[in-house]
Amino acid sequence: MKHLYQSVAVLLGADPKRPVADDYTPEAVTLHAEQKADKTRIAAIHAEMEHKAQHKIPEKWRRRRWTVLILTNLLFVLSFQLDIQILEGALTGSRFVGFHMADLNSALQVMLAYKEVVLNLLIGTITVLILWWLLGGRTFCSWVCPYHLLAEWTEMAHDYLAKKKIVKDHPFDRRVRTYFWIVFGVLAFVTGYTVFETISPTGILSRALIYGPGIALVWVATLLLFEIFYSKRAWCRYACPIGLTYGLVGAVSPLKVTYNLANCFHEAECKKVCEVPHVLDLVIKGRATDVDLFIGADCTHCGRCVDACPTNSLNLEFKGLGQLLK
Ligand code: SF4
Ligand code: SF4
Repeated sequence: MKHLYQSVAVLLGADPKRPVADDYTPEAVTLHAEQKADKTRIAAIHAEMEHKAQHKIPEKWRRRRWTVLILTNLLFVLSFQLDIQILEGALTGSRFVGFHMADLNSALQVMLAYKEVVLNLLIGTITVLILWWLLGGRTFCSWVCPYHLLAEWTEMAHDYLAKKKIVKDHPFDRRVRTYFWIVFGVLAFVTGYTVFETISPTGILSRALIYGPGIALVWVATLLLFEIFYSKRAWCRYACPIGLTYGLVGAVSPLKVTYNLANCFHEAECKKVCEVPHVLDLVIKGRATDVDLFIGADCTHCGRCVDACPTNSLNLEFKGLGQLLK
């Protein structure tokens, strides 16, 4: 329960808490002491880093994820263009082989704007809620959202320019995303209009792909340029209310990234590739309070840390089914 509370607090923007002595299990205390006493680990870490420098680890999860993301968005496009009626509508509201689906954040905004529970919308919302609860909440972000894919590409551009010392990252306070979530909820309620939908790059891109480009794409391009030249992954990290809504849904999901302290070398390769590195604070030496832990609700289950970890300390697991594909 304490872990869940902290996971949600971090999702809402709190900094991860340093554990106190009482938080540790006896097994974790023993393991931390053994790792500290084991002088061979330093040499092993150096060997591992050298090996990694010479043998690039393939990003298997990224390839799988990009394939799913592109195919899902393509299915929307083809359903409309060819009128095959498999996945009709756009990401904000759709019908999959006849079943109504509603994006959770859009549904929330619509209900706040209408000030009533719209029955048709409620059925679609519950379907999607169960689906994304099972699939891990923010999995929507890295496996479906078209903006995520563009932001990953612009992140590469940002990293390249940062390496050349042309740009530098300007982080913001992560609590801003929670404030935005509240502000857009209040705006929908007060104005009776889903204000956020007009600036959501997720909706703009989804509609542009299906129905053709519009002027709103200028806003999306502005966001992407801002992320390249000023603040890395700014929209998803500090602004998007959709990410927060799905994060709340995923807080108690059976799909998790799991962490094993026994295998960990604490060299933090995972944190370097993570869009939300605060969720990986537990990999810092001395922070893990148990031998096996799971990563918090802000995790998008992108699998990049799983690919980056050379010692298999991180894995994608489904409760009851165990580890997913390697
Ligand atoms: S945070 Fe928002 S824009 Fe970013 S991937 Fe998630 S839904 Fe898309
Ligand atoms: S913790 Fe791992 S799976 Fe989760 S967002 Fe970060 S890199 Fe992706």
